Amino acid sequence: MASQVAPSNIVVGSIVWVEDPEAAWIDGEVKKIDGEEITIKCKEKTVVAKASNVNPKDPEFPSSGVEDMTRLAYLHEPGVLQNLKCRFDMNEIYTYTANILIAVNPFQRLPHLYANNMMEKYKGAALGELSPHPFAIADSAYRQMITEQISQAILVSGESGAGKTESTKMLMQYLAFMGGKVNNTEERSVEQKVLESNPVLEAFGNAKTVRNNNSSRFGKFVEIQFNEWGRISGAAIRTYLLERSRVCQVSDPERNYHCFYMLCAAPSEDVEKYKLGNPRTFHYLNQSNCIELDVLDDSKEYLETRRAMDVVGINQAEQESIFRVVAGILHLGNVEFTKGKETDAAEPKDDKSRLHLKTVAELFMCDEKSLGDSLVKRVIVTRGESITKALDPSTAALSRDALAKIVYSKLFDWLVEKINISIGQDSESKFLIGVLDIYGFESFKTNSFEQFCINLTNEKLQQHFNQHVFKMEQEEYKKEKIDWSYIEFVDNQDILDLIEKKPGGIIALLDEACMFPRSTHETFAQKLYQTFKDHKRFIKPKLARTDFTICHYAGDVTYQTDLFLEKNKDLVVPEHQALLGASRCSFLSSLFPPVPQESSKSSKLSSIASGFKLQLQTLLETLSATEPHYVRCVKPNNALKPGIFENNNVLQQLRCGGVLEAIRISCAGFPSRKIFREFIDRFSILAPEVLNGSYNEVTACKKILEKSGLSGYQVGKTKVFLRAGQMAELDTRRSEI
Ligand code: ATP
Ligand code: MG
Repeated sequence: MASQVAPSNIVVGSIVWVEDPEAAWIDGEVKKIDGEEITIKCKEKTVVAKASNVNPKDPEFPSSGVEDMTRLAYLHEPGVLQNLKCRFDMNEIYTYTANILIAVNPFQRLPHLYANNMMEKYKGAALGELSPHPFAIADSAYRQMITEQISQAILVSGESGAGKTESTKMLMQYLAFMGGKVNNTEERSVEQKVLESNPVLEAFGNAKTVRNNNSSRFGKFVEIQFNEWGRISGAAIRTYLLERSRVCQVSDPERNYHCFYMLCAAPSEDVEKYKLGNPRTFHYLNQSNCIELDVLDDSKEYLETRRAMDVVGINQAEQESIFRVVAGILHLGNVEFTKGKETDAAEPKDDKSRLHLKTVAELFMCDEKSLGDSLVKRVIVTRGESITKALDPSTAALSRDALAKIVYSKLFDWLVEKINISIGQDSESKFLIGVLDIYGFESFKTNSFEQFCINLTNEKLQQHFNQHVFKMEQEEYKKEKIDWSYIEFVDNQDILDLIEKKPGGIIALLDEACMFPRSTHETFAQKLYQTFKDHKRFIKPKLARTDFTICHYAGDVTYQTDLFLEKNKDLVVPEHQALLGASRCSFLSSLFPPVPQESSKSSKLSSIASGFKLQLQTLLETLSATEPHYVRCVKPNNALKPGIFENNNVLQQLRCGGVLEAIRISCAGFPSRKIFREFIDRFSILAPEVLNGSYNEVTACKKILEKSGLSGYQVGKTKVFLRAGQMAELDTRRSEI
């Protein structure tokens, strides 16, 4: 963020913040000012910096920080950072920026924040009356829903491991507490089912990654429906883009989805039934050395998951089928292929592979021969004739992995659907509170199709967020009856157009490429380079031949197109479809219902990106009919350890999460505001006559401001509104007296 302060505010002797490559910002005293150059003596070094990289430090910063950033005298980057760090060091991990809750992951249980009576305490308390807390956000959403009769949404965001899912669970717990019924019947209540859906979805959709031991590999929107008396009457869970590739590809030191390890650690009768054993014997698990986790007891989790499945209404027979299919996937991964004796055609490598194939057929309850054929043969129809083509061993292995992925992703979708049916929808519900737990902005060394979709989500949510913050600011100004007409608002619509526009956007071009059999990622990349040559938000990296860069609101991201086409095609191989559709396991065959004739033949593409774009559109339509609340989660370090707060890391996340953008938007207006009394207490020294008793609060404030010679500020009904930098200016005057 550019410095908001004119150099005139900084004089020799001022205490200031100066940018530092390691600590982001360090403080020191100004020793010399030489035009644009300022010399600052800091604790460990003397720094010469440009005036634009120097910000004044609040001489009266309270030692325990402030609960709401808008109460900082100087609302700038170092001030925000100092406040968060100071609170984090005291185990106060929650802080507001107006009504956005910032939650810094403590990586340790903090009992003082989640004591038993906490929910009771927050019930009905106005936002800001008690310490910042997710319960306060949930309470405020609930109360607004009741009093204003409008639906609400709580959007939780942050990077992987920042604490989104944990925060979401607290929000849901609070809403269940407020909207739950007293339940005397045997039947599980809606809110119990909603809460217990978490462990089920986590077992099948979460995995250990380098960023988080319990990383959600899908996005989730839980919509809790309420009746006119504010009681929970139904709920719906929508999920987004489960990461499929993890089922057959795990890099060290990550893990596959939790359910695989749980099943291997199940009670022995289950392990024997499914012919399982040591997880290290399965290819889909042993590609990584990481099998056991200190923080997770797989055998306990297995029983816990079965119990949660009971609660959400998945019956014993269904549970049996689900785990049989999960075991089948593990055995499938162990089927290896080799070249036949006379031809290149793939066949199972040895007796072991043949045995696994037999076990898969048993577990999937399908014909062993058809299973084998579906992995190594393809029927190709040309000019009305069908020819059977044999696959080579490496293509057969890909076909095997494709089968594993499609079965797993259909199984996951089934779980979500089943939970939704069991919870029940209230079609007459008056309002809802939606809670969104979705992946934050991602920028890695290599970024593929998944990052592209994730970052599109974040662009869309960012636009929604900006519009909202902007609106809120305006409302505050209106309430205080001050003039706000000149506040500018920067939009990211141009990035959204680049990606989404139809026709001509990146997704449209990708779909087009996927329809032409001869397209490759090279031709796709060329097409992008041609089309977006002059687009402000699109860059062709100098040395790259197939990469492209998008200038996202949160920073530039370079995408590798290599797998874009493949990953975008939502295709079930017809041989797999036929095989599983004919399974004697009714659960499995129901995952592969017959495809209507025309659509199986037509060349119409089923595109993941376009499907996802539609899902996002629906989500945003839902959100736009709600009053939004925001929880921004921050991960203080990458070691996942308590007590470590890395400044640069945190700043980067505040930027990506739009927190600094929200601050920027409010800086464009009147970022510093003080209620009259506080303003007089702080600045009466600039016009001591205001204290002689003949002035009321408003006129006293006006008098002080007049004497200061500032311009552009506004005096509202209860507060003084200052432009960026003006608080600093007044402080300087005060210290000069
Ligand atoms: P992902 O995007 O990978 O799913 P996430 O943002 O959902 O990440 P969480 O799974 O919620 O991250 O949190 C990661 C871990 O951090 C948790 O498993 C837990 O150990 C710890 N954690 C998060 N929030 C809290 C909290 N409020 N108190 C204590 N520990 C927490
Ligand atoms: Mg999560």
